[in-house]
Amino acid sequence: MSDASVDDSLKRARQRLAKALENAGRPSQAARLLAVSKTKPATLIRQAHASGQREFGENYLQEALDKQAELTDLQNLVWHFIGPLQSNKTRAVAEHFSWVHSVDRAKIARRLAEQRPVSLGPLNICLQVNISAEPSKTGIAPEALEALADEVATLPNLRLRGLMAIPAPAADLASQRQPLAQLRRLQEKLQQRLPNAPLDTLSMGMSDDLEAAILEGATLVRLGTAIFGAREPHR
Ligand SMILES: *Cc1c(COP(=O)(O)O)cnc(C)c1O
Repeated sequence: MSDASVDDSLKRARQRLAKALENAGRPSQAARLLAVSKTKPATLIRQAHASGQREFGENYLQEALDKQAELTDLQNLVWHFIGPLQSNKTRAVAEHFSWVHSVDRAKIARRLAEQRPVSLGPLNICLQVNISAEPSKTGIAPEALEALADEVATLPNLRLRGLMAIPAPAADLASQRQPLAQLRRLQEKLQQRLPNAPLDTLSMGMSDDLEAAILEGATLVRLGTAIFGAREPHR
């Protein structure tokens, strides 16, 4: 992709988000874009940054660290780790990211809490939920969510911000909305249970279901393809 096309596709994505918010009757600032840059080179992140994008999502630790090292001259980048997270990777994630969206086990949360440098301030956490239509094995089962959230809310150096999900692809708006509505209801229940937790983040909606996610209350939509184009498989 040329410079112009990242800039263009970001503008289109912002317009699409604005329109979806308007159609949902929500304020224009009620949700923001996370640019998912996995498998894409640092040069494209640089172009997106020049176009005003600041928050980026990465799935693969080593790839993300390499790109971060290439981009240390850019101001105010906010890195979100959104991929599956194994125990042996938690330290680097705790040290090099501001957000983790894919926490689905207490063990991972405890390690992140222990390993987060205090000087960086709390690490923002979303719990990944395996909502009904989800084909993958990642994400905590809805029945087990409250126990995990209770524990995460008490851990030092972490700030529990909300929930994340990756629903199975669905063809039409109504079927897209179903699992997203389920995630929203889980978040509402959790907020009642944990009134002091700042649960302001519903991380849901990707290139194919942004409109459905915005209708169901998403506050952070994770767009990859719509911003950076189609991906080659990760190697
Ligand atoms: C790749 C990925 C995205 C972006 O998906 P697109 O369909 O390309 O927009 C969003 N969230 C997660 C967790 C991802 O792994």
